[in-house]
Amino acid sequence: MTMLLSVDGLTAGYGGARALDGVSLGIEAGETVALLGANGAGKSTLLKALLGLVPARGALRFDGADLGGLATEARVRRGIGYVPEGRRVFPGMSVRDNLEVAGLPAARDRARDVERVFALFPDLAAKSGEHAWRLSGGQQQMLSLGRALMGRPRLLLLDEPSLGLSPKLADEVFAAIGRIAAAGTAVLLAEQSAVRALRVAPRAILLRLGRVVGDGPVASLSEEALRDVFFGG
Ligand code: ATP
Repeated sequence: MTMLLSVDGLTAGYGGARALDGVSLGIEAGETVALLGANGAGKSTLLKALLGLVPARGALRFDGADLGGLATEARVRRGIGYVPEGRRVFPGMSVRDNLEVAGLPAARDRARDVERVFALFPDLAAKSGEHAWRLSGGQQQMLSLGRALMGRPRLLLLDEPSLGLSPKLADEVFAAIGRIAAAGTAVLLAEQSAVRALRVAPRAILLRLGRVVGDGPVASLSEEALRDVFFGG
């Protein structure tokens, strides 16, 4: 199978400090992969480098095309959706408008996509006319996910979607991620909470100090490897 995303020797940093050090990985179409690592391992930097939000060296290919040199907007247009840490929504806009402004240019496509998001998140449908600031944290996270889906991504990059949510809301958000994945969208899910991530992702990539230290089916990852990633051995 050809890879949807392939990353080879990705290196990035902030000033002198290296945050990613020769990261290589591949993601197939429709695959759900957990990106696991402790605080500061480089998960957010990796997602940002894939989008061109931080400068990086190395080879990046998406859907057969070279991403290097493409601006963030062009990468998004090619089918990479991104939900950053911390639920970016427009608080003063209605739920529906938050989705509309993230949608495709043609009104008919946009209307259909809004309905798809509402079918995926019935809680949002019930609040379509409310201002986004009135939503709960979990609902804002769902709106943030919905906004990314409006661009019809083939790969969705999620940065710590459960951060700051109660266990119950985090479970709801993960159930929604499971439904998105089941519908055929590839997902790369950066998480500090391995237990939840591994419930929806059959495969995990372990990141430690900017390097890939494990990559494979969840059953192949030893508890020792996971412990090492999270507690530094
Ligand atoms: P977290 O769970 O905290 O988001 P992470 O695995 O996503 O952790 P990154 O945020 O990618 O890790 O950070 C990787 C390294 O880069 C860390 O050492 C971090 O301190 C550093 N770093 C991240 N952002 C910046 C920045 N804007 N300026 C300087 N250093 C940064």
